[in-house]
Amino acid sequence: MSPQHEALATSAASGDRKDLQADCANCFGLCCVALPFARSADFAVDKAAGQPCSHLRADFRCGIHERLRDKGYSGCTVFDCFGAGQKVSQVTFGGTDWRRAPESARSMFEVFPVMRQLHELLHYVTEALGLAAARPVHKELRRALARIDGLTRGSAESITGLDVNALRGEVNPLLLRASELARARVPGRRKNHRGADLIGARLSGADLRGASLRGALLVAADLGGADLRDADLIGADLRDADLGGADLTGALFLTQAQLDAARGDATTVLPPALSRPAHW
Ligand code: SF4
Repeated sequence: MSPQHEALATSAASGDRKDLQADCANCFGLCCVALPFARSADFAVDKAAGQPCSHLRADFRCGIHERLRDKGYSGCTVFDCFGAGQKVSQVTFGGTDWRRAPESARSMFEVFPVMRQLHELLHYVTEALGLAAARPVHKELRRALARIDGLTRGSAESITGLDVNALRGEVNPLLLRASELARARVPGRRKNHRGADLIGARLSGADLRGASLRGALLVAADLGGADLRDADLIGADLRDADLGGADLTGALFLTQAQLDAARGDATTVLPPALSRPAHW
């Protein structure tokens, strides 16, 4: 492993994940241009991929940042690029933006969604490396981290040519094993709702401690007061789910974007790395 990758693994284990957090000041507003959105409850208008949002300012900042929900753009408040925006802007394209170099715009907009998936994987692998119970798979996780990080530093052509689904298929078993090892400490039988359709489910006060909710559809579910300690929530759809009074201590693979999409209150207990959304 190179010194750079050793440093990466060390920072991962210590929970220092700044490069995996969105840094809009160093991004060319890529999520506001590269991605399409459809008029819905989440977006006030239609926008095609590659078309700059009408609210994107010349300095690549959002002109309605403080009023996104009021203006019908709640979808923007729950998007997380996991640091892919600044990586594409500053590393892949060396700090030259798509306005100054319009000939590179298309390539930049194609790289961004792929980079986002790579950074999302880096985020999950990094979290798994911070789980002491997952030590038996740390070596393989460190190897995966170094490999994915290397891929993020390739050329635009190499990034858009990646088979990200195949990469996910290689990394997911490691994340699953890390999750199983971490949840093994939870006493009793752990519920398995992996991929379950729990849209609108009444799970108020439910004992979901250590449960697998991987990829579960929990849209508008009532999880008020639920015990979600040490539950695996990777990829769970928590849009509009009620987390009021729920206990998410030690919840695995829960992201800020998932929390931002849900509802909660002052009594919801959060993992220390995540913040209480302003709209709760
Ligand atoms: S509304 Fe603001 S945050 Fe949303 S896409 Fe437009 S510029 Fe970006």
